[in-house]
Amino acid sequence: MKPSHIEHLGIAVNRLDEAIPFYENILGVTCYNVEEVADQKVKTAFFMVGQTKIELLESTDPEGPIGKFIEKKGQGVHHVAFAVEGLQETLDYAAEKGIMLIDKAPRKGAEGLNIAFLHPKSTFGVLMELCENPNK
Ligand code: ZN
Repeated sequence: MKPSHIEHLGIAVNRLDEAIPFYENILGVTCYNVEEVADQKVKTAFFMVGQTKIELLESTDPEGPIGKFIEKKGQGVHHVAFAVEGLQETLDYAAEKGIMLIDKAPRKGAEGLNIAFLHPKSTFGVLMELCENPNK
């Protein structure tokens, strides 16, 4: 797959309006974008740390993936996102290697990225997101 870098870390939080001030005032990083991804039932907030983003995720629906995650495991690291080129080919490669895919084809994520998830059962317990910037 050869990802070029870790695009972002996804962190599930109960409330963005409580978590954002910690990142801004304690860590000292600036939130540069807040965006709702209706498809994923989340509101996201982004911070840049070097070349890696932090993506905070607040659930907008208890039945959504983040709502269920927090109910089961509480707040915390939810996924690691790797930047790849040729997302569909990468997914096809993973499937060919017997990796369980959550998304067999790319879909639209926050910030205009094309994204797809690999199942944590195939990745040693880490929910992995692959993302591709279509404007690159
Ligand atoms: Zn993500």
